[in-house]
Amino acid sequence: MAGKKRVVIVGGGIAGLGVVNTLVSKAGDLVDVYVITRDRYYVGGPTRPLLLTNEEEYGRIVRGYENVRNINLIVGSVVSIDPGNRVVNYSETLYGLGSRSINYDYLVIAPGVVYDGSSIIGYDKYWWRVANVYDVGRVHVLKDWVWKLNSGTVVVYAPKAPYRCAPAPTETALLIHTVLRHRGVRDRVRIIHVDANDKTQPPVIADVVKSIYDKAGIELITNQEITEIGDGEVVTKSGERYKYDVLALLEPNRAPSFIKEAGLGTDWFEVRSPTDLRSPKFDDVYGAGDAAKLPYPKNQEIAFESALFAANGILSDLGVDEKVNVQYAFVGWAYVGNVDGRLETNSVQFGFDYTQQPPKPMKDPEPKRDYTLQKDRWMQTYLSRLFSY
Ligand SMILES: Cc1cc2nc3c(=O)[nH]c(=O)nc-3n(C[C@H](O)[C@H](O)[C@H](O)COP(=O)(O)OP(=O)(O)OC[C@H]3O[C@@H](n4cnc5c(N)ncnc54)[C@H](O)[C@@H]3O)c2cc1C
Repeated sequence: MAGKKRVVIVGGGIAGLGVVNTLVSKAGDLVDVYVITRDRYYVGGPTRPLLLTNEEEYGRIVRGYENVRNINLIVGSVVSIDPGNRVVNYSETLYGLGSRSINYDYLVIAPGVVYDGSSIIGYDKYWWRVANVYDVGRVHVLKDWVWKLNSGTVVVYAPKAPYRCAPAPTETALLIHTVLRHRGVRDRVRIIHVDANDKTQPPVIADVVKSIYDKAGIELITNQEITEIGDGEVVTKSGERYKYDVLALLEPNRAPSFIKEAGLGTDWFEVRSPTDLRSPKFDDVYGAGDAAKLPYPKNQEIAFESALFAANGILSDLGVDEKVNVQYAFVGWAYVGNVDGRLETNSVQFGFDYTQQPPKPMKDPEPKRDYTLQKDRWMQTYLSRLFSY
């Protein structure tokens, strides 16, 4: 239909599809939605750590876009944006050669994060010694190492916050403990968690995690930033050295560099406020999800809520009165493994309500199996809601 506004969304993940979902349902006649995303599939994050213990399977968390209706899907990797001329440039990655451009009336930037190890000396040479639960292509490498390890040292590392999914490093350490205990080799393996922050993240459950670490015999070293990687050893800023056989290191996180190069932020996409996700410089460019600079944790609920705020902004501009109800708040679950080595992970529940000042935290410090099952249902509901509605 002539006169439709073209909305281009960069990133077909939680935030990108959150925007799609809202715009299509509230203003389907007024917009043509294009989603540019890097792959023909999406792999969910939150239950991914359970691949380590065989409690999750890839097949349950991978989704294609074939059932996402009313969008034009472009599989490509965005390389630059020219917000002055309303142009997005992308390359066709694995699925074709050359580069292409697309114009927009509204742009939503939701590409998630980049795991950037370039500030770590030796990372360019020894990146292959690193595997973590974040990298979808390498979580099985970590799993393989952990299931074959019979003795030695595992180093788990969390960089300075903010990074995506605050508890994933502690989840990693406790799930590795669980597997090693299950295999009967835990007594011959040291697990050291080095953390660049003063507490494990999120701070609200740091005390609970510490007491489980004590029971599991996991050594915790805080306030130590890893600045160098060698073949079998890491070095921290203050010169401490830790030998490793398995290195489950999360690289420092940032938004993709095309955001900075377009003048839309530095490490993260700059927004006007958490509820007004427009760029301070451009009325027609919005940020959403983990790439956006928000004063909240980078997790799925916050990513989705930011997407709804961004969609509401576009709806306002289009003159649509009906908006979606949204507030910043979340309840989440952190895996704490199973100290006794049964492959039945327990979880701790925690959350924040940011509508209250000061923001109201909540937690249940008692690890429960039921929370692990709740997290699974929550994740599957997200995937159904966004990928096959
Ligand atoms: C291992 C792991 C565990 C997690 N655990 C939890 C948890 O327990 N609870 C929780 O709430 N959250 C958790 N999260 C975080 C949650 O998955 C993210 O917060 C959420 O996915 C953020 O949504 P997003 O849309 O910003 O990014 P994503 O969902 O990552 O989507 C970004 C999309 O953009 C695409 N993309 C990237 N760059 C480009 C480019 N240049 N051009 C085109 N497309 C691009 C990507 O391929 C991807 O499809 C976890 C994440 C991981 C990885």
